[in-house]
Amino acid sequence: MATGQVTVLGGGLAGAEAAYQAARRGASVRLYEMRPEAGTAMHEGSLLAELTGSACFGPEQPDRATGLLIHELRRLGSVILQAADATAIIRDAVLCVDRRAFAEHVTQVIEEHPGIELVRAEAAPTPAETPVVVATGPMTTPLAARAIFKFTGHEFGFYYGACEPLLAADSLNESRIWSQARFDEGEPIYRNCAMDEEQLGRFLAILAEHGNGLPEGVRAADVFHEYRPLEVAAADGEKPLNASRLSAGGFTEPATGRQPAAVCQLCPDDAARTVWRAVNMHTGLPPSQQRRLIGEVAGLEGAEFLRHGRLHRAVCLNAPLVLGPTYELAQRRGVFIAGALTGVVGYTAAAASGWLAGVNAARRLEAAEPVALPETSLCGAMAQAMIGANGARSRPFAVNFGMLPADEAGVEGTKDQRRLAKAERALASLAQFCEDNALGPAGPGTTES
Ligand SMILES: Cc1cc2nc3c(=O)[nH]c(=O)nc-3n(C[C@H](O)[C@H](O)[C@H](O)COP(=O)(O)OP(=O)(O)OC[C@H]3O[C@@H](n4cnc5c(N)ncnc54)[C@H](O)[C@@H]3O)c2cc1C
Repeated sequence: MATGQVTVLGGGLAGAEAAYQAARRGASVRLYEMRPEAGTAMHEGSLLAELTGSACFGPEQPDRATGLLIHELRRLGSVILQAADATAIIRDAVLCVDRRAFAEHVTQVIEEHPGIELVRAEAAPTPAETPVVVATGPMTTPLAARAIFKFTGHEFGFYYGACEPLLAADSLNESRIWSQARFDEGEPIYRNCAMDEEQLGRFLAILAEHGNGLPEGVRAADVFHEYRPLEVAAADGEKPLNASRLSAGGFTEPATGRQPAAVCQLCPDDAARTVWRAVNMHTGLPPSQQRRLIGEVAGLEGAEFLRHGRLHRAVCLNAPLVLGPTYELAQRRGVFIAGALTGVVGYTAAAASGWLAGVNAARRLEAAEPVALPETSLCGAMAQAMIGANGARSRPFAVNFGMLPADEAGVEGTKDQRRLAKAERALASLAQFCEDNALGPAGPGTTES
């Protein structure tokens, strides 16, 4: 067991996970989270682990990248996954949580943990205070950024991304909204709103008025693809919006009995279904223009925005130059970086990096060397990809199945069967890793705090 103090900066997904894992291993943890004293452009409340984009962790099947990460995190005893499981409102196909309940759950676990002291203040890493995990996220404050720069000597990278609007349920015109799974395959997860040809034409015309909508000097290439605003996608013109993110394929609008020209889907954001997220409607347009745009969608004409879409500038380190697969800075022993700051993108990826950074910070207290996760697990393969094992990378990246090494046993079968075999291998390698490093076992259903 570790004795001594671990400092964690940032109470987002990665920081909360790191704090919890270090404390679980006996460290006294001081966790700095600057909100609500000073907000960020992206975070709205004072809760820890605020989900700043959607409230979805992605597909949950183990043959999908986020799904495998979800399964791996459960196996590792992740507090973020425990919170997600406890507050899930959609399961199986995708794991979506009640946004507020999720953050409240994490906040409560951290606040009540006897080994964690939560300090509501902005902080920066110092050479005197190690081990430290820096998990200050895409909105890292200049104070912390300057301190990290002193350690690494390398400039930060940056990228842009937008989030989707959140709409009030009682402002929607229910008579125009229907539930149906695409091609009627499986249970409907989302609700659907149609656009006919004329509405779609006006919708596209509004987007065209704004060009790509990006601030002057920002290039479309600086935008992270998964969080690309509608206006950038439309200006890019690579694929029409109604053939990609607003595709109506496989839907029949009950009011007309026909397939509409485009479909905007709504995903619940809370258990009571009082808030709905406009799926794939990422935008950074001015609020008045967003209202015009969404107003073209049948059923959303009078929608009240509880959160407008917003474009954010996010920062990240040049991980291949400064980080190892243990998340420790190459130039500074005892300083670990986790979460979006490393360049990994996505809630599960943030939690996975926080998990290992927290474990390794506690190991430094025990005078043990930090460890890397097995490359046959997706958490481990992600860390390797982050530091550029597959070619130097200074850009943010999403986890994908292709990061996993080929199966030496050469499993035969369909793509799905090969993926499932890799997923089994990944989970087995993590179980072995935990056993070898006295880190578990922490199997599914672990609720220790
Ligand atoms: C525009 C955009 C949209 C996104 N949408 C999604 C999505 O829909 N789904 C998804 O899976 N991922 C999404 N992501 C990625 C996601 O934000 C990150 O992967 C994840 O939230 C990062 O977690 P984190 O813990 O690193 O950072 P955060 O969750 O941002 O946490 C960092 C915390 O550090 C605090 N902090 C900052 N500086 C300091 C300081 N100096 N001292 C103390 N505290 C500090 C902040 O207040 C914050 O609470 C999106 C990213 C962007 C940029």
